[in-house]
Amino acid sequence: MPDERLVDSKATFAQFGHILDARILRALADLGFARPTLVQTKAIPLALENRDILARARTGSGKTAAYCIPLVQKVLNAKSSPSSSESPLQATRALVLVPTRELSEQVTSHLRSIIKYCDKDVNICNVCSGTNNHLQRTVLSDKPDIVIATPSKTLALLQSKSLSLAHLETLVIDEADLILSYGHDDDVRQIFGGGHLPKVFQTFLMSATMTEDVETLKGLALRSPVILKLEEDED
Ligand code: ADP
Ligand code: MG
Repeated sequence: MPDERLVDSKATFAQFGHILDARILRALADLGFARPTLVQTKAIPLALENRDILARARTGSGKTAAYCIPLVQKVLNAKSSPSSSESPLQATRALVLVPTRELSEQVTSHLRSIIKYCDKDVNICNVCSGTNNHLQRTVLSDKPDIVIATPSKTLALLQSKSLSLAHLETLVIDEADLILSYGHDDDVRQIFGGGHLPKVFQTFLMSATMTEDVETLKGLALRSPVILKLEEDED
């Protein structure tokens, strides 16, 4: 449960009823999320307006749901109006990059709880879980809507052509302040520079602190981003 100072006491998830699917709202209610946190109130509508976002908010402020909720909604939107998009019905539309396998598991479990009532329409895959490469490749042939991975795993799967990001719509880099220092620097650069990504896609950088690494990623990944800085007084 986030610190109550991080919760947006003036907001409710119901106020997003016009942009969020009722199945997501039901799942959030089951999670006991009565009110959005400040970062969620700000990020969710901007994310659904397709803006690039750099969100800096302290640990425990609910950044995971701030990006997972719009990711799920975007998949539902893409599938409900396939004719408006050139994408095939089934393609990997979102990639969540995390620095560690442990975090990939936490994010996956958070996403599973959010898609609880719409898991027929949204399939997700944590490619860091399990050690069976064959299984991972089989799953990837299903082109999961949302893939959760470390940069090294992502790059390996891209290079072996097990994963295609040709139809990527949204890229998230979680713990952006840590991801480069976890030894993923080269991998991240190769993911961006290796011709694996489409020309246009949306990116979110989520971070607890603003560091040089976050600035580097901002230059590498973001286009005209909205910068959300919460608790500026803490610096
Ligand atoms: P961060 O990534 O910013 O460090 P998390 O996304 O891990 O924070 O969230 C911290 C905790 O707060 C988690 O246990 C999460 O389930 C919970 N949480 C997130 N959003 C809400 C909310 N709107 N209401 C209640 N609890 C929430
Ligand atoms: Mg986090």
